[in-house]
Amino acid sequence: MGGDGKVHLGRRSGGEAILSAQDQDAMRGTIGARIIMPGDDDYDTARMVWNGLIDKHPGVIVRCRSAADVVSAVNFARKNDFRVSVRGGGHNVAGRAIAENGIVIDLSAMRGVIVDAKTGNVRAQAGALLADLDEATHEHGLAVPAGVVSATGVAGLTLGGGYGWLARGYGLTIDNCIGAEIVTADGAMQRVDRATRPDLFWALCGGGASLGVVTSFEFQAHPIPPKVWFAMPIYAMDDAEAALRNLRTFIPGAPDKLSILAALWSAPDDPAIDAAIRGQPALYVLGCYSGRFDEGEKAIEPLRTLAEPQEDLSVAAPFVEVQKLLDNDYPDGRRYYWKSHHFGQLSDDCIDTMVALARERPSALSSLDLWVLGGQIAAADPDASAFAHRQAPLMLNIESNWNAPAEDEHNIQWTRYAWERLERFSSGGMYVNFGGLDTDREQLSRRAFGEHREKLVKVKQKYDPDNLFEGTVSLR
Ligand SMILES: Cc1cc2nc3c(=O)[nH]c(=O)nc-3n(C[C@H](O)[C@H](O)[C@H](O)COP(=O)(O)OP(=O)(O)OC[C@H]3O[C@@H](n4cnc5c(N)ncnc54)[C@H](O)[C@@H]3O)c2cc1C
Repeated sequence: MGGDGKVHLGRRSGGEAILSAQDQDAMRGTIGARIIMPGDDDYDTARMVWNGLIDKHPGVIVRCRSAADVVSAVNFARKNDFRVSVRGGGHNVAGRAIAENGIVIDLSAMRGVIVDAKTGNVRAQAGALLADLDEATHEHGLAVPAGVVSATGVAGLTLGGGYGWLARGYGLTIDNCIGAEIVTADGAMQRVDRATRPDLFWALCGGGASLGVVTSFEFQAHPIPPKVWFAMPIYAMDDAEAALRNLRTFIPGAPDKLSILAALWSAPDDPAIDAAIRGQPALYVLGCYSGRFDEGEKAIEPLRTLAEPQEDLSVAAPFVEVQKLLDNDYPDGRRYYWKSHHFGQLSDDCIDTMVALARERPSALSSLDLWVLGGQIAAADPDASAFAHRQAPLMLNIESNWNAPAEDEHNIQWTRYAWERLERFSSGGMYVNFGGLDTDREQLSRRAFGEHREKLVKVKQKYDPDNLFEGTVSLR
């Protein structure tokens, strides 16, 4: 709000509108949902997202409580040519949930999850976090394949793809998404699935969030044992090259129900850990076995013996708790910049380069994460969704995480340097959901969708020809 009590809203065609007190009353009357504006007590909390690097000032935040609220907000924005963004869980690294100067359609109050225990059918409102989904399904001995940090949003995850601890066993989140309700740019509310508007459903599944506002998702959940085995050996960085070579040998025969993530990181700065290794550079090999509990300890054993671990924090725990094991490592407000590559193989040179880069990290909080893909991710029909690069057996995400604003430039530059050094090992593609900052958007848009991009652009033109929804990536 300007000092004059007026609200400034950016127009998509350029320039801005200034809403007088009378205009603001009219807007409240039209939209119906709670409207948060500059000057309101909770404006600063409502405009913040997870990444502390992002400091955007939207003109208006519409806190929706229903699909009808979303329809009103979409119509209001379209008719007045205002810039729009959509907020799910607020964990997009580039802060795409918030439109500078625009209208934020905020779904954070729409977190309900309903589970049909008989069919395993799960309906999640689009503001739900993974914790909401996991807790609701856990009660029934079920789980939906999702990501590995429970504070992140279901919406962004699903619209970008969705890798996690159940992915090798049951596929990506989108492979388990069976329908969605969406408000399109024309203000129409509709249900989409493989039979109804299949082109739109295809594009929603991994196509990068620029086709409309999804108000709810429907998923197929899977039975999960009361406890699962989770591997968490920590190896010294000096043993990382050898351990990763041994991991490379193990991967081709690994069971699909074992999902694996190796992180070149730092040992926990935790009094429970031997003081000599606390906070020191280290390799974690994380793995979750989602098959029968009595097979699990044996299934994760190869991950615990890739070298001599310095510590082994492996546990048997309910899946809902496994989903929270990494939560504390990604607090709100820390500074984050992430970029990914897919790899076709793990050569000696690639391993050595990754470990060398891990030793040079400017921040001990940063990591190089190697996601082992394959299994049901690769088995699914590659053309059944907009998601691309399904056949890549590995993904590397460079996660730069740090606290001090004075270190922004150094960490961002280092991430780009590391990404460029690793580019020669890339099999092509980048993951939409580990998407850098706005400055990386063009590159991400070009690389994320491979041969699906052309079809995706056509679907975008059909349902949002005026680009009301800018989404995570550009489909122009
Ligand atoms: C700590 C952390 C851990 C992560 N772990 C994983 C992981 O294990 N696996 C994985 O695959 N990814 C992972 N991610 C990536 C994560 O899935 C993405 O950052 C995702 O965008 C987060 O979704 P969100 O709803 O919280 O984000 P938001 O920032 O709210 O939204 C993300 C994008 O989707 C749009 N959007 C949000 N809701 C809607 C909606 N209802 N309709 C239309 N558009 C919408 C937004 O405008 C924005 O462009 C992780 C991210 C973080 C920060």
